[in-house]
Amino acid sequence: MADEVSWWDIRPAQGTQPKTYTCPLCRQRLFAMNPNTLLSPEGDRDRRRHAHTACVAEQRAAGRLLTRSEWERSLRPPDGVAPPWWRRLTRRGHT
Ligand SMILES: [Zn+2]
Repeated sequence: MADEVSWWDIRPAQGTQPKTYTCPLCRQRLFAMNPNTLLSPEGDRDRRRHAHTACVAEQRAAGRLLTRSEWERSLRPPDGVAPPWWRRLTRRGHT
């Protein structure tokens, strides 16, 4: 389900009405009045889904369901990356 979504807005939720939802991760019933987790694909509140907090934790432990900041970080090379090998060679060649 998460394949076409780059990142998720993930926030804790707890409903005040005795509704039930279907968890999109395990397809089991979820009771809105229990603490759960609200997933909004790329921050789209119209497509938000209630999921079991444990299911979300399981997905995130497996490296899925990135938050926006995690996704943005994954697009950039990490800070403090070593200069490329050819730059070191070039510098040595000119001294
Ligand atoms: Zn679930």
